[in-house]
Amino acid sequence: MTRKEWKIRAARLLAHTDAPSLTAQLLLCHVLDVDRVALIAHSEEVVPPEAETLLEALLARRAAGEPLAYILGFREFYGRDFAVDASTLIPRPETEHLIETALEFFEQRKVTGAPLRFLDLGTGSGCIAITLAAERPAWKGTAVDISSGALKVARRNAEAHGVSLSFLLADFTQALPFADADFDLVVSNPPYISEEEYAELDAGVRDFEPRTALVPGPEGMEHPRAVEEAARRLLKPGGLFLMEHGWLQGEACRALCHEDFWKDVHTGRDLAGKDRFLFAVRSEKR
Ligand code: GLN
Repeated sequence: MTRKEWKIRAARLLAHTDAPSLTAQLLLCHVLDVDRVALIAHSEEVVPPEAETLLEALLARRAAGEPLAYILGFREFYGRDFAVDASTLIPRPETEHLIETALEFFEQRKVTGAPLRFLDLGTGSGCIAITLAAERPAWKGTAVDISSGALKVARRNAEAHGVSLSFLLADFTQALPFADADFDLVVSNPPYISEEEYAELDAGVRDFEPRTALVPGPEGMEHPRAVEEAARRLLKPGGLFLMEHGWLQGEACRALCHEDFWKDVHTGRDLAGKDRFLFAVRSEKR
């Protein structure tokens, strides 16, 4: 079978999934170790039998609903590839807003003196902390996760992108071993989905992505609440708090930020125009 013939056959078997033709191409690129330009330019080449066996196995996994990122072993985030496995969430494009917002905030407020210190709570694949460290090599980052499996993946990603970060295996709903008011930025994409919403998610998410990375408890606000408490204690006055949340949690997240401790509290939207993240600046008052 030629590459083109395999692609057409695979796309047909993936008709019930999103982007069947692109998925078929990406599987071919992955197994044949070629880029898409080369794949298309040499579409009449015959697929070697061993490659075809492997392709069929990967195709069956995708046809059964497994997300492509787990099959390929990576997902692109903010222009870089991040390894993922069953212990990490797959990075989502809406999370890139946290990166853009953090970079822009500190671009405007030129920080002088000691290097800026940031903390990523619930780092998963490490996509947020590693992207920040790669974009701003002078910043000193710490990435926390409760899952040793996720931290292993995050460390591997940090190494692949040549960034240096501190990693800590810890539960951010408990007291973290950091001094008060020691960070300029606390960023987090915590689990924020309620048990009720979880039941409604796509099977591809429910069956393959780690539940603990998605659901903090029955209500969905359990971890956002704990993250605000940590950020309140750990941020310096003037420090920035950014936290992703569900599109219906904008108001509840703003309400976490008491005016005694926070200023400039507002909600950022995603590209679909939905409420997506909390923005708050730690005020001077303690
Ligand atoms: N910080 C990681 C991400 O944004 C993991 C988030 C999570 O597991 N809830 O993808």
